[in-house]
Amino acid sequence: MSMFKDIPVDVGVIYEGERIRRNDMHVELGGPDLKEKFELALVKKPGEIEDGKVSIIGPDIKDMQEGKSYPFGILIEVAGAKLESELEGVVERRIHAYCNFIEGFMHLNQRYDIWLRLGKKSYQKGLNSFNYIGKVLHRLFKSGLPIIEKMQVTFITDAERVKELYSEALQIYEARDARARGLKDEEVDNFYGCVLCQSFAPTHVCVITPQRYSNCGAISWFDGRAAASVDPKGPVYTIERGEQLDALRGEYSGVNETVKKKSLGEITKVELYTAFGHPHTSCGCFEAVAFYVPEADGFGIVHRGFKDVTVNGLSFSTLADSTAGGRQIDGFHGISIEYMRSPKFLQADGGWNRIVWMPKEVKERVKSFIPAELVNKIATEENAKTVDELKTFLKEQNHPVVINWKEEAPAVEEALSAEGREEAQYLPVASASTLPLIAGGFKIILKDAKIYAKKVIIRQMKSETTEKR
Ligand code: SF4
Repeated sequence: MSMFKDIPVDVGVIYEGERIRRNDMHVELGGPDLKEKFELALVKKPGEIEDGKVSIIGPDIKDMQEGKSYPFGILIEVAGAKLESELEGVVERRIHAYCNFIEGFMHLNQRYDIWLRLGKKSYQKGLNSFNYIGKVLHRLFKSGLPIIEKMQVTFITDAERVKELYSEALQIYEARDARARGLKDEEVDNFYGCVLCQSFAPTHVCVITPQRYSNCGAISWFDGRAAASVDPKGPVYTIERGEQLDALRGEYSGVNETVKKKSLGEITKVELYTAFGHPHTSCGCFEAVAFYVPEADGFGIVHRGFKDVTVNGLSFSTLADSTAGGRQIDGFHGISIEYMRSPKFLQADGGWNRIVWMPKEVKERVKSFIPAELVNKIATEENAKTVDELKTFLKEQNHPVVINWKEEAPAVEEALSAEGREEAQYLPVASASTLPLIAGGFKIILKDAKIYAKKVIIRQMKSETTEKR
């Protein structure tokens, strides 16, 4: 039975985290096959809003062809005596959670990257119009954020209109992000935490500081502050920064305490400006992954929209699978694009001096934040498609990582003395503080594991597409 009598499907927290595979979907809205898609929240004057109004520009669900992807935009306009434009980002981020409360309706990512699917079963139950979804959003928003007094929702599926509004939305996101630049982590007493993604990654806690934007790229420090003040018991809350324990690595006593509490003891230490040791955890909706390339002793970066395989032969979705889940994985780090514009970006690992590869599209977006002398030294897919090509490029460009390269080591067999060989048999081939294995439908976590093997076979994984999700 539905939570709302006039809605044909159920609505509730239990549907968060529900995935809809391609074979089970009726239609897809936005997603990786379409360049232009967006979600946007705007604060308006009360007179400009008709409370409860739902508009649809373009074909409604019932007019869509089964199995197809459609351009998509969601515009949420809100008004309230205490609502200010600085809350727009917070309202907007709730679209993700509230859409996911609807049975058989999946929402992934944020802003210009949204990807929604409606499941066949829910369509067959009668969820055949955006009017139903608009009604649900209106009710959930007004009960979850009582500061909203009036709200109207517009769904846009007309390709031309999506395109126009997409360009406007990009400018609004940029203006919001720019506002948070300039403020330093050391200058504030409070950071903000967000646990909205714990439905997907139960041990994940985002720590949002002025100089470390949230992983999803949708919540700045200002947004966090606004959210925590209007809804202190909500998913975004205040973290008292506490003592700075390590300025370079970004360790703060208040962060350690709160993350330990919110991850139920699973994560006890977080270093905000590094991808090694105790990095910030990664949920699943990070905008990009920083991945260590051992052969170059540097980091590659890949964003969600990159369709090809990266320089190490792995796709975004394969790297994302290795990174996600609320874990701290050495050398695999979920980040937002905005964090790349921060002076604290991977500061403890060498910052931009350690970045060796990234898609051209990302490089263009953050170019003015890369130190001028490094811009041409960082490879893109146009300069290097393999690790060998990357090494050649970095050498030619005299990238700072090259200084750390050792002369090619002799083959291990030859280099080991008889005694060494004996010992080598007992060296672990893998060790990790937390090593998750997935087998037979169970997730097994080995703590402080050291794995010994007589023989190790390494095979390159076939590239997977983002469709796998
Ligand atoms: S990625 Fe982080 S900030 Fe963004 S919604 Fe998830 S938990 Fe919150």
